[in-house]
Amino acid sequence: MNDCIFCKIINREIPSDIVYEDENVLAFKDITPQMPIHILVIPKRHIKSIADLKVEDENLTGKIFTAINKIAKDIGIHKTGFRIISNCGEDAGQTVKHLHFHILAGEKMSEEII
Ligand code: 5GP
Ligand code: ZN
Repeated sequence: MNDCIFCKIINREIPSDIVYEDENVLAFKDITPQMPIHILVIPKRHIKSIADLKVEDENLTGKIFTAINKIAKDIGIHKTGFRIISNCGEDAGQTVKHLHFHILAGEKMSEEII
């Protein structure tokens, strides 16, 4: 997608602090962190949100969660804990229309943090 910020990050058209990459998945630090650790995990293929996933994407979503598991182990938060959030659509306040999973960690969380 030409006008998608995250596609531009994937294509290195805009810089980001990448923490993980494989054939299908990219993860980078959120530009406006809400927690001491705030990473975004995205598929390299442009998909708008969870609402746009198809049955054929099952394999890809599995790969995204495998990447999340690897990142958590790499940075040690598999021991301390973390939260995964994916905002989907208007009511959830999704601002970037490229499927992404927030990894939030690094301190004790209240229930309401998103
Ligand atoms: P959403 O609100 O759609 O769930 O989350 C979008 C996230 O993308 C926000 O947390 C925002 O800070 C992050 N973000 C938006 N633009 C950029 C950018 O250019 N670079 C990075 N690293 N993060 C971004
Ligand atoms: Zn995109």
